[in-house]
Order: sequence, then C-alpha cells, then structure tokens
Amino acid sequence: MAETYDVIIIGSGPGGYIAAIRASQLGLKTAIVEREHLAGICSNWGCIPTKALLRSAEVLHLAEHAKNYGLTLEGKITPDIKAIVARSRGIAERMNGGVGFLMKKNKVDIIWGEAKVTKPASGSGLGEIVVGKITKEIVQPQAPLPKNVKGEGTYTAKHIIIATGARPRALPGIEPDGKLIWTYFEAMKPAEMPKSLLVMGSGAIGIEFASFYRTMGVDVTVVEVMKTVMPVEDAEISAFAKKQFDKQGMKIILEAKVTKVEKGANSVTAHVEKKDGTVEKITADRMISAVGVQGNIENLGLETLGIKTDRGCIVIDGYGKTNVPGIYAIGDVAGPPMLAHKAEHEAVICVEKIAGLPNVHPMDKLKIPGCTYCNPQVASVGLTEAKAKEQGRDIRVGRFPFVANGKAIALGEDQGMVKTIFDKKTGELLGAHLVGAEVTELIQGFVIAMNLETTEEDLMHTIFPHPTISETLKESVLDAYGRALNA
Ligand SMILES: Cc1cc2nc3c(=O)[nH]c(=O)nc-3n(C[C@H](O)[C@H](O)[C@H](O)COP(=O)(O)OP(=O)(O)OC[C@H]3O[C@@H](n4cnc5c(N)ncnc54)[C@H](O)[C@@H]3O)c2cc1C
Repeated sequence: MAETYDVIIIGSGPGGYIAAIRASQLGLKTAIVEREHLAGICSNWGCIPTKALLRSAEVLHLAEHAKNYGLTLEGKITPDIKAIVARSRGIAERMNGGVGFLMKKNKVDIIWGEAKVTKPASGSGLGEIVVGKITKEIVQPQAPLPKNVKGEGTYTAKHIIIATGARPRALPGIEPDGKLIWTYFEAMKPAEMPKSLLVMGSGAIGIEFASFYRTMGVDVTVVEVMKTVMPVEDAEISAFAKKQFDKQGMKIILEAKVTKVEKGANSVTAHVEKKDGTVEKITADRMISAVGVQGNIENLGLETLGIKTDRGCIVIDGYGKTNVPGIYAIGDVAGPPMLAHKAEHEAVICVEKIAGLPNVHPMDKLKIPGCTYCNPQVASVGLTEAKAKEQGRDIRVGRFPFVANGKAIALGEDQGMVKTIFDKKTGELLGAHLVGAEVTELIQGFVIAMNLETTEEDLMHTIFPHPTISETLKESVLDAYGRALNA
C-alpha cells in the first residue's frame, strides 16, 4: 500500500523546505520530494552562492582602495577565480547540507526522485503522486544523500504542494550552450576568468553578475531592452545606479536588443539592435543570457488534472490554492516576483491555511521587498513614483543623499540615496527605494513600517541610532514633509 501523508511537497527549495518545516511544526505528517539538490536553486545556484561571489568582489574592491583608508597593501592583489568559485561552491554545499539536517530535525521524510501528481484529493479520497526515475539532466548531483531517504513509488496525501521552482528562460536563436553563451549555472563557476563579457538583460541576476565580473576586472557590456537598468526599480534609483556602473567602466546599452549571435572558436559576436535601428556588433569572450526565468511546470501531470497555468506558471489564489482542490503551488512556479523570501512566505501562508489556523492573511505582493546585491546595492518595497502616479495617487516624495550622512562618509560609501513615497492625504507610506552601501539590510525598516501601516508621523517619531546609514531613512521621510535636518 502507498505510504500516506497529510502533506507532500514537491521540490525542496526555500518554498518547499519551509512549507515542510511549518507543516511538521503544526503536527502534520509531511514528506518532501526532491530530484536534484536539497535547498533548491536559492542555496545551490542562486541567492547564496552569488552573494559569496559578490563578497569576494567587495573585498577585492576594498583592498584595491585600501589607500583611501590610510593602508598600504604590498604587492598586486590578484583575484584567483578558482579559489573564489571554490569558496562559493563550498558555501552552497553547506547550505544544502543544512536543509538535510533541518528535514531530519523536523521529522520530514525525504523522497528522492522525480514527482508527478497523478490524482487530486476528492471527497474522502486522497491525492496521489508517483515518484519515478530522474529524467532531468542533473547539473550538480546532491552529495551525499541524507540517510533513510525514500525512493521511487506511489505516495498519497491529503494535500499536495507543488514547489518545483524555475529555470533560465532562453530566447529563440540565442539559446545558451553552456560554453560560449552561459546561464547563471555557468556564470557561477567559470573555469577561468573571461577577458570580456556581454550580459543580455539587466534584471537582478544579470546586473549582479555584471557587477561581480566588472569588479574582477572583466570588460563588461550590458544590453537592456528597456529604458532603464533594473527596469522594475524606481527610474530615479536606476539612473543613480547606472551612473555608478558607468563610473566603474561598465558599458550599458539601453533600449537595445541582441537579435543574433555568431559564435567563434572562443568568442561570441552579438548583433545589438538599437532604438534608432542601427546595429552594433559586439564581440566578447563569453555572454550571459539573463532574460528571466520560467516556471518548472512540465511533466507534473498538470494538464491531465486540469490545473490552470498562465505564462508558464501555476495560477493560485492568495493562499497558494490552485483551481483543483487539494493541490497547491508556491514559490517561483506560482509566478512572480520570483524571490526566495516570497516563496518562503507563500509556503507559511499555504500550510497554515491547510492546517486550518485562524486569521491567516493572504499574500500581499506589494509588501514584498526586492534586493539587488550589485555595487551599489539596490533595495525597494511598494510602489515606484511612476506606479503611484499611474494609480492616480496624490503623493509626497522625500529624498536623502548618502553624501549628507556621517556614517556613510566615515565608511567611504557616500554614493547612495533613499527615496520615500507617501500618500499626501493619509500619510501612508506607499513605497521606499534605496541605492547605496548595505541598503539590502536597511530596507527591512520600511518593510516593517508598511506592514504595520505606519504613517509619516510614526516614522518621524521613531529614534534611529547615530551614527548609522539608517538615519538616511528617517531623513528621507522628513524631506517628504520639508523637514529634513541634515541636508
Ligand atoms: C543567480 C540567481 C540569484 C538569485 N538571487 C536571489 C536573491 O538574492 N534573493 C532572492 O530572494 N532570490 C534570488 N534568486 C531567486 C531564488 O533563487 C528563487 O526565487 C527561489 O529559489 C525559489 O524557490 P522555490 O522553492 O520556488 O524553487 P527552487 O529553489 O527553484 O526549488 C525547486 C526545487 O524543486 C525541485 N524539483 C523540480 N521539479 C521536480 C520534480 N518534478 N520532482 C522533484 N523535485 C523537483 C528542483 O530540483 C529544486 O530543487 C536568485 C536566483 C538566481 C538564479
């Protein structure tokens, strides 16, 4: 007889493993199915290993500018790409092992193999999945597998959560080949440093790699089809960041698209079509295709079960429910924003709803922060100025530059700004947009404020520690009301 659970989760990324832990905490018998690596893309190929690479870039940058801090470093500082990659891969492995430990600690069964949903729960009947042979080409196998892992077979559950994540999107004719045209997989562990690099797409993934490689001394060109870099960000913040990238020697071509790529023996030549119709041919050692990701919705049995999808993602409500009872989806496979913390929060909401907890709030996508860990960092939450105006909101905007903040100056990090957007009538904080050092750590102040439906009054009465860069948050609020104190 098939082994039965209260909840089975397919995929062990930040969506899946957090759902498993929360389900177990709530007393539900839980299993998680994985086919490639515990901890998903986030820990193995996404959030964490990129931050490890970017940390190496940051240390290199500081070392190269040691003189500014009164320090003399003897000899030339040379990045050792093999050692940098080894550090990043080691950290990914540690994270991966950590999730194995968490599953054991929380008594979550791990089932190894490729899962397909074969039956939804109906009436008193249980839902069913079949875990079969792994058909996907495995980029880097899980090693070693945790003990007592279950294998192929049929499993039943009252509730099935799909958390299968996403993979790189490819443009027709410009498909990554892993050698000359990379996805994030190859960009994460180059065998050697290219001399030149073309990055197609300036979203978070593209610009983080562009920033890493540029700091490493690579000649980097970024091609972006939209009017601004990091197009989802507030236009003023994007423009500020672009100026810094320009100063660092990154070449950024906006409102342009790569239409064709010719491959040489050890280089690519991209045809870059610009807004005015002219085509520039750009040759680089390697190219990164960073044009977004698409949900892993294939071979899961979705069509047979009639589970609705839209633009490559599973359609859900605010609690992760699909249109088929007993089947849920969370994380990247359930649509944008494709971020680990969104996946985790969706996981908790979904499981608490399944467990019947009272007062479970549906996901509010407006309150999901977005962070990009390039140099300078960018972080935001809520509406951009353009979106607020589009919605017809009457707004007040505050701005505060890092050049007027003592701590930023002391750190030698005076290039940055904070922008806040308030509803003129109610004083509701509608959006916050930051660029500069450590802003990915600072944005949470505004996320909490928005979550508590804080107004400008509350923020103005909050005491910020001195000296910190966080004081720029308060000054930006004060500025929105013509009361900035230090500028
Ligand atoms: C380069 C890069 C940098 C990133 N940086 C950040 C960042 O700084 N911050 C941030 O918030 N987000 C970042 N992200 C995005 C983040 O990684 C994802 O949003 C997050 O991993 C999504 O979690 P998930 O649980 O939905 O799916 P995933 O992490 O993709 O996990 C899905 C899991 O499901 C498994 N699976 C798929 N199909 C099956 C099947 N049929 N059977 C069994 N198992 C299956 C997969 O093997 C995988 O392990 C980054 C992504 C990339 C690529």
